[in-house]
Amino acid sequence: MPDIDPGEFDIAELGPKVRAIDDTAELEALLAAERDGRDRDAVITVIQSRLEAVAAEEDDTGDDEDATGDVDLAEMSLAEIGNRLREIDDPAHLRSLRDEEQSGENRDTVVRLIERRLDSVDDSEDGVSDEGTERASPEERHPDLDHPTADKRHVRALPDGTFGDMWVYCETQAGYLLSVSRELLGKARDLTDEYNEAYVGADDDPERVVAVLIGDDVARHADECIACGADVVVYHEDERLSRFLHKPYTELFADMARWGAVTPARSEDREPSPPRDADWRDYDEPRYVLFPATNNGRDLSAQVQAELDSGLASDCSGLFIEDARISNPVKTGEAGSQRTFERVLHMKRPDFSGFEYSTILCLDNPDREFHPQGGSVIPGSFEVPDPDPTREGLVVEHDLPLDDDWFRVQVTDFDRLDSGVDLSGHDVVVAVGRGIGTNPTRGVELAVDLAAAFEDADVGVSRGIVTGSYEFAGHVEQYTHEDRQIGETGQVVKPTVYIAAGISGAVQHKVGCDEADTIIAINTDPEARIRDWCDYFIEGDLFEVLPRLTEAVATTDRGAAAVADGGAATPTTDSADGGDDDE
Ligand code: FAD
Repeated sequence: MPDIDPGEFDIAELGPKVRAIDDTAELEALLAAERDGRDRDAVITVIQSRLEAVAAEEDDTGDDEDATGDVDLAEMSLAEIGNRLREIDDPAHLRSLRDEEQSGENRDTVVRLIERRLDSVDDSEDGVSDEGTERASPEERHPDLDHPTADKRHVRALPDGTFGDMWVYCETQAGYLLSVSRELLGKARDLTDEYNEAYVGADDDPERVVAVLIGDDVARHADECIACGADVVVYHEDERLSRFLHKPYTELFADMARWGAVTPARSEDREPSPPRDADWRDYDEPRYVLFPATNNGRDLSAQVQAELDSGLASDCSGLFIEDARISNPVKTGEAGSQRTFERVLHMKRPDFSGFEYSTILCLDNPDREFHPQGGSVIPGSFEVPDPDPTREGLVVEHDLPLDDDWFRVQVTDFDRLDSGVDLSGHDVVVAVGRGIGTNPTRGVELAVDLAAAFEDADVGVSRGIVTGSYEFAGHVEQYTHEDRQIGETGQVVKPTVYIAAGISGAVQHKVGCDEADTIIAINTDPEARIRDWCDYFIEGDLFEVLPRLTEAVATTDRGAAAVADGGAATPTTDSADGGDDDE
């Protein structure tokens, strides 16, 4: 028997425990226990990956010759091949492995893995320079290529580039500063304070939080931005910017980011642009930049970061700044060496439907810098700060003539949504998902009926309903719009009881409701992901279960608290199914 019983944990809890185990026998026992027990695919994958990693570590500590010598591709899993290839720096060896694979099983994925490794080894060889030798840029190394970044208006690249401050794009809509903008300012404040403590000497100027406002009549939000944590507010206002437009907003943000920077000519036909005076800053580019992962923020962030020739980690939900020790030769410039990158913004985002979190780092290459390090952040990921009206800051107007050509796309008509539905603050939220698919109108009616049986409840939906092509009868249609969506890109609710009917439990949904005191899931599929994180799982058809719950609540006068404890507080013979965990 393994030391822990995997069946007692959901995958989020189990992942760290598995990663802490170094003993192959223990991992194998755990794998067998999971297979004999709940037999969850995702858990099995996690344990198998750990087994492969431990095996690779054991190989690593063994004979060096073994690490880079004979490799029998046919005997290895894809993950093992990937791990093993990372240890091989010799292009000749890699080429021989590729030839061997091509003349044998010729698996596309394996050939691609080897070629990718070859590219990175070749790149690092091309780029490695002796002490004192200038490194060649990709454009110089490959003059034959019409390099897609060749005409970008780069600011000064390494080694002379200077970076500073954390910038936050503060989105406004209909004259209001969005709550996520305040949230980002609060997080940026915390990160910048920690940064200053860790990296800035007592005699140096601390780095700052810079809020960016673009729109019509936006300067009036400057005080609120400062109260929420900004040290500087840079704004550009013009009545033509009253509505978000991709092109002018991108041009303005990118120009603000380069404002005052030295922008060298990257081609012979282009003159270097002289720096425009920006007396409030003394760096070439922002060090970090955060955008809200709203529709507009996502749109803007991708193009701005591309325009600044940097990278973007989208839809993040965790951020911290720390040094990172890296051995990737593309980043270190030399195979087999390690390099510590300082002040790296670590951007965590959910991957594989939220079963794993990836941490994205935006690191310079030896011959090219990538700044600002930037990410978009899922609304609701951080606390909205309490505004401090006594805070003081600098307000700077950005000046740049708007080019008519930027307004070729115009908004000619629009609908304004009603003020929206606020699902937070209710005792109970009854949410439905695609499980209502066989009779969508009836499914929503049942949810509305159940909500009506409680004293204080309302109806929410998963994104599957919002983006689905269901046809709803008029009387329930209002319940199926985006303003009732729960989750990462919808509302975050924390009711006493959350009832999720016909919802599979994707992480993007989970983040919107997992702070509910009690989560009750109704699902026909006993393997549904939501089973891993709900408190009560009712295996059943929502068209049968919801009416029974409604009847139970309506006829026994049981409030949210009683439902939350499975009826234990007020035992009754009329109880609906679902009183027992995992029933
Ligand atoms: P499905 O995944 O199709 O699940 C339907 C479930 O119903 C299944 O488990 C099935 O077993 C069950 N079922 C079927 N028939 C019945 C029945 N008769 N009775 C009971 N059960 C039944 N999703 C959100 O919800 N909120 C978000 O904010 C959100 N943001 C996103 C942001 C991004 C960037 C991305 C990429 C995705 C986002 N999603 C969001 C989508 C999310 O990944 C899922 O696709 C979505 O939540 C699935 O909706 P669902 O559970 O209703 O549908």
